[in-house]
Amino acid sequence: MNFKAIALTFVVTLAVGIAVGTSLVSCDRTTRLSADEKTINLEMDGGKGTVGLHTDNKELHFVVDHAPSWVSVSIADSTLTYTAGTNDTQAVREDSVVIKCDNRSVSIKFVQAVRATYLSVEPESVTLPKEGGTSTVSVHSDGCVQVDCPEGITATLSGDVLSIDAPNNNGNAKSYSVNLIADEFTSTVKVTVKGNVCSRCKGKGSITCPECRGQGIICSYTEYNEWTGEYECADYVDCWNCGSGSMFGRVVCPSCHGTGH
Ligand SMILES: [Zn+2]
Ligand SMILES: [Zn+2]
Repeated sequence: MNFKAIALTFVVTLAVGIAVGTSLVSCDRTTRLSADEKTINLEMDGGKGTVGLHTDNKELHFVVDHAPSWVSVSIADSTLTYTAGTNDTQAVREDSVVIKCDNRSVSIKFVQAVRATYLSVEPESVTLPKEGGTSTVSVHSDGCVQVDCPEGITATLSGDVLSIDAPNNNGNAKSYSVNLIADEFTSTVKVTVKGNVCSRCKGKGSITCPECRGQGIICSYTEYNEWTGEYECADYVDCWNCGSGSMFGRVVCPSCHGTGH
């Protein structure tokens, strides 16, 4: 290829490049369209807010293609503004707002709660090591659940999963109650963060046997006492729970598994 051919190729390439570039701008085609939120969760008594929209269409030709009858929407510049009233349908309602820009579309799901009819948590208690960390609890409710978390730990509800985070604990074991509220329902998650000393056994590693109340023996046979008119124990055996030996009357602490912290 001589210099002329190279120069010609360059000019042709440049011309084609300009032509393609120009056609993109003049047609103002949309190749990208997105929204800042995928799902909007509304409380039963409604609410309002905004969602940012993004496109490479310079003229911002946003069109509301669909909106639920219970959500009013408007678009100004690149911001969608929505308002929803009270949900008095007795059921959770769900629909999408669809925004179009040329041939592209984006959906934003709207979910509106109703008054809760149930609330439960599983499990109802969690234990974290003294090093801290995260534990999760499943939350079941058909209403809007609010979390009341004490200082010292954090509890974050995302969907139906409650994440409980605790920092490293160098002091004594600590216990907390995280309360969940959904209208008139409340549930509590007991949170124990282990420390240098177990709060249940005070560091001993064992607790009084709950079966024999520390006696080490339980009644195996009762007899009727005619004098007192009551049944009284006539024979005792070693407690099946704590048995005999060094743990007589005591059992391994179920909270620290005998470690004492
Ligand atoms: Zn016992
Ligand atoms: Zn213990």
